[in-house]
Amino acid sequence: MKKSLITHIIIMIIAAVLGAYLASLLTVQRLEIIKTGSQLSKLPLGGFNKFTSDVQWMLFINYCGGLSAVKKENVGEIYKRLNAILANDPNHEMAYEMGGMMFSVRDPQKAVEIFTRGADNPNLKKNWKLPFYAGFVLTQHLTDQDDPERLKKAEEMFRKALTRDNSMPHVFSALIRTRAKRIAQRKDWRGIPIVNDKHAYLCALFDEWRKSGEISGAGPNEEVFSGESVTVSDFRPRILEAAQKAKASAPTNKYILRTIDEVVKKVLKDDHLCPKCLTVYGPGDKFCSACGTAVEVYGTCPRCKAVMKGSFCSACGCPQKGVAAKPAVAKPAVAKPPAVKPAAKTLIIKPAAKRVNVPKKQ
Ligand SMILES: [Zn+2]
Ligand SMILES: [Zn+2]
Repeated sequence: MKKSLITHIIIMIIAAVLGAYLASLLTVQRLEIIKTGSQLSKLPLGGFNKFTSDVQWMLFINYCGGLSAVKKENVGEIYKRLNAILANDPNHEMAYEMGGMMFSVRDPQKAVEIFTRGADNPNLKKNWKLPFYAGFVLTQHLTDQDDPERLKKAEEMFRKALTRDNSMPHVFSALIRTRAKRIAQRKDWRGIPIVNDKHAYLCALFDEWRKSGEISGAGPNEEVFSGESVTVSDFRPRILEAAQKAKASAPTNKYILRTIDEVVKKVLKDDHLCPKCLTVYGPGDKFCSACGTAVEVYGTCPRCKAVMKGSFCSACGCPQKGVAAKPAVAKPAVAKPPAVKPAAKTLIIKPAAKRVNVPKKQ
């Protein structure tokens, strides 16, 4: 009888020790799983936080439905209710989105705070809207003469939104505009003074293009800003358009011309651009179709000047290869075709020259 009692007590003590150990282990694991555990309300709700927040959310919707507008008088109350919901459920996506929207006009600071809190929540890292809205309010609704810190924060938020979903051009545009504002504020871009907004916009786009990894091995002095790189497929047309606008804004400004030079060299090197208005022109064009400026002709047959459609000229059979690569050699061959005949005897002449002769005889 006495022996079994001792056994019972020992088993109870072991169970209690094991239970305590397991509890502490589980608490650590739970905190790892619930990344927002520290934000959770400390009220003794016995694990019914989510349920409580749902009830609070319904009451909140009901309360907001009764309001005619968000005013100075009710901002405090709305904020209090919203915080109570988020304290019980820090992953309440809808509460962040809707709550932030409600404050965006009447109290933008609070709106930014709510959106940012949602954007920084690791459980909502797929939501691109929260960081985008935060950036949007930071750039549109706060009127403190473009505080540099605020713009920096806005850029961070836009970048965050774009890394979550880079399929939206309006988010990309917002990011570039904010970036351009910051460059314009600094008044300097890689040693080139910034002339105007259009110039700053081109610089911002070019920076982003470099950052997107299309060009590798940035030099040690190349500026790299924070955040992950963003990949948007249609950089080239955007950069071309920005370059055209920058040039049109101050056609003779040497700083803008220097920037455009650099951009064309790196991004638009495969395009043939009008030297005056930077419009792309096609093979065989002698003048720019947009401004009428004479342009350097390319893509024509070295012999008959017809536009080349493939490897051989469709008008005279002249091959494109070898001629295009060495224009200096091509010139005399075109200038005096009879000279080909004696040269043929020397056996050094390429088969290309023979083919040139065939249509001549016919
Ligand atoms: Zn032109
Ligand atoms: Zn030809």
